Amino acid sequence: NLKRRVQELEHGQKVYPEVKFLNVKDRKRILITGGAGFVGSHLVDRLMIEGHEVTVVDNFFTGRKRNVEHWIGHENFELLNHDVINPLFIEVDQVYHLASPASPPNYMYNPVKTIKTNTIGTNNMLGLTKRVRGRLLLASTSEVYGDPEIHPQNEDYWGHVNPIGPRACYDEGKRVAETMCYAYHRQDGTEIRVARIFNTFGPRMHLNDGRVVSNFILQSLQDQPITIYGEGKQTRSFQYVSDLVDGLIRLMNSNYSMPVNIGNPDEYTIGDFAKIIKGLVGGNRKESQILQELKTILGWSPKVQLEVGLNRTIEYFRNELRRTTLDGRH
Ligand code: NAD
Ligand code: UDP
Repeated sequence: NLKRRVQELEHGQKVYPEVKFLNVKDRKRILITGGAGFVGSHLVDRLMIEGHEVTVVDNFFTGRKRNVEHWIGHENFELLNHDVINPLFIEVDQVYHLASPASPPNYMYNPVKTIKTNTIGTNNMLGLTKRVRGRLLLASTSEVYGDPEIHPQNEDYWGHVNPIGPRACYDEGKRVAETMCYAYHRQDGTEIRVARIFNTFGPRMHLNDGRVVSNFILQSLQDQPITIYGEGKQTRSFQYVSDLVDGLIRLMNSNYSMPVNIGNPDEYTIGDFAKIIKGLVGGNRKESQILQELKTILGWSPKVQLEVGLNRTIEYFRNELRRTTLDGRH
């Protein structure tokens, strides 16, 4: 980014990241809803660099223009300020449907809006996909399993969800979104893909995400004590955002139409997370952890080692904190 800024100043015009040239027959018109968000903006980067034409639709509820700023003005890129609960008529080949708040503080802030986005919004995007005879990939979530009674959860587990709990707006919203995908598929033959995404981290994640990775990084950078609830023996797994993006693109372009879990199978205790993050923030690098290979139906496996991913995320948080302090706002 810095290198590009310097070039821009030298040339007196915007310098874009390099994109591949694709023949017309290989070049796709791709819509990414929620493309100004954390995951969406990384997907935009990958598809743009591969040479596709990308349209982002976002209402900037939790997303930022800044996440895709480096593409604005590029001939292959378009950014629409649009809310998916309103119909949209554009011509595309593929739709990555990511629009939905994703972290608990965000989706509980306005539960009715969360439900509308996941139901009416998904309905609109499926309607669009049906009209253009395209293909839609839904960004669903491991939360469709609710408070699971079995571990780990396979795709054929039906879940255990409280329909009236505080998280229901999100969990049930995504469940209906999945139901809609298969209803359109059965009724109209619409091509659909469903990714059940597990916890993901990386640069551009929200500083106030409220979940464990962002909390621990912020606390370490601000020299505050790390808040481990209980003994810290509970375990979680986190995948790095580029691994997720890789899985989403493979799934979209596969011929597999049943739901697919995408997550990193390696579990760490919360206590270990605290130690690793504290060590990295202090510049005290440890031996990197070795990831196990996960062979799924798509031949996908996570590539980025936890510490490598954490270092990139910490760097992003450090810059964000510096920027917000300079700006005097959060
Ligand atoms: P994010 O909040 O960063 O991105 C969501 C984007 O959707 C934002 O840019 C937001 O402005 C936009 N959006 C929300 N409502 C909209 C609406 N009505 N119309 C148009 N745009 C709207 O979240 P994220 O982490 O990037 O999540 C992306 C998708 O992945 C979500 O669908 C989420 O449910 C799913 N997911 C994420 C995770 C994770 O760990 N990050 C885990 C499971 C599932
Ligand atoms: N946790 C913690 N300190 C924090 C935030 C979370 O110890 O500041 C623990 C929490 O008790 C839980 C785990 O980390 O066992 C993961 O919490 P998170 O909020 O990420 O999401 P959850 O998976 O519980 O929905």
